Amino acid sequence: MSNNEKLIKKARKFSIHEKMFQCPICGGAMKVERMASLECENGHCYDISRQGYVNLLKHSSKTKYDKALFEARRTISGSGFFGPMVEAVTTRLIQELKSQESVKPVRLLDAGCGEGSHLSAILRKLREQRMVPDVLGVGMDIAKEGVVTAAKTFPDPMWCVADLSQSPFADQQFDYILNILSPANYSEFRRLLMSDGMLVKVIPGSMYLQELRALLYTGTGKETYSNDGTMELFIRHFGRIEFEELRYRVILDSEQMKQLIHMTPLSWGISDELIERIPDGEMEVTADFTLLYGWI
Ligand SMILES: [Zn+2]
Repeated sequence: MSNNEKLIKKARKFSIHEKMFQCPICGGAMKVERMASLECENGHCYDISRQGYVNLLKHSSKTKYDKALFEARRTISGSGFFGPMVEAVTTRLIQELKSQESVKPVRLLDAGCGEGSHLSAILRKLREQRMVPDVLGVGMDIAKEGVVTAAKTFPDPMWCVADLSQSPFADQQFDYILNILSPANYSEFRRLLMSDGMLVKVIPGSMYLQELRALLYTGTGKETYSNDGTMELFIRHFGRIEFEELRYRVILDSEQMKQLIHMTPLSWGISDELIERIPDGEMEVTADFTLLYGWI
């Protein structure tokens, strides 16, 4: 397929769903023009890349997330570290979908999709379930490097580089929003969710990577972690909530451990010398997550 054909194929997908979008600058309605860009009624224009993503940031944004970080996250996803968490989220989504009275197409947004592996795995699992209706996946992240990797690796969802505080979607466009190990914006989540929609937020539990904390943070006061503040904020924004705790242990080799350190906010501000403290050979680490579900 030539580059031009690739672009047209990607643009067609955005064109089918163009009504979902709104201009992040002026809030105007958007249309796909010349099978090449999303444009608003006031002339703000966002090119569709041939990899299949649209950059909807007003200004390019410098984030702490670089290409190496997303490569590390992809390696760790491949190692199965997140497997049971992704499985639990999918199981809950399937349960919710099956409880719906009518079968209708479903739209799922991953807000903070990074390099796309969680969204892609969840979509694949949902589609394996014949009972589940048509699902459109949309991934959004402010870090362009993550979205570029996502678009190259997983062609199926629509990928957007965008700022969650001014997300480029019209009101009430999504049945489900995922927000996995990523910062929230509750007023935007409430605006984007359909009235019976559900937010799924995954946050680390207090024992998340406790072995790493013990190695890297001894004597710094950061050895322990609490998600109480995040929980409280979540509860305040929803009429109905449920939560679920999920804890399991994973064995990683020393190379995977180093990748894990590179992808986690834990490692920011940690010197190479400290990272050298990671012993060679395999190490068992704790994955501890709280899964929060919220309905407006
Ligand atoms: Zn505009």
